[in-house]
Amino acid sequence: MQIEIEKIRDEPIAIEGEISASELDIDTSDAKLIGNLKVNCSLQRIIREILADFEISFSREIMCSRCLNKYIENSQDKFRMAYNTADFADSLNVNDDIRERILLNFPMKLLCKTDCKGICPNCGVDLNSEQCQCK
Ligand SMILES: [Zn+2]
Ligand SMILES: [Zn+2]
Repeated sequence: MQIEIEKIRDEPIAIEGEISASELDIDTSDAKLIGNLKVNCSLQRIIREILADFEISFSREIMCSRCLNKYIENSQDKFRMAYNTADFADSLNVNDDIRERILLNFPMKLLCKTDCKGICPNCGVDLNSEQCQCK
């Protein structure tokens, strides 16, 4: 997502946009973006600085690390960034900052629910829905 610097003035302006999975490039084998990530951004220029308030929302299909079932997680996040206009020629690319923000907040463990029982290491049964006879 590119924002033209020229559009950003002293008065805050709102810009909406979308970032596709390939542009965002955060997919892993166990977490995939569904559709596009939506961005609402309020931008304001203060002398040589651009203040940007981001609101992002997106959905991901995630594979539970315990039971290997897939589940959908909807996420929202709000954050503020400051840019120096001297660092940009005529447009601001915000994809890297949004990607970094998402990766920073990425959960250590991907679980369909906090008490997911996982699969039996012996017979492979999903212990959330079935019980097995293994000891
Ligand atoms: Zn699970
Ligand atoms: Zn078992």
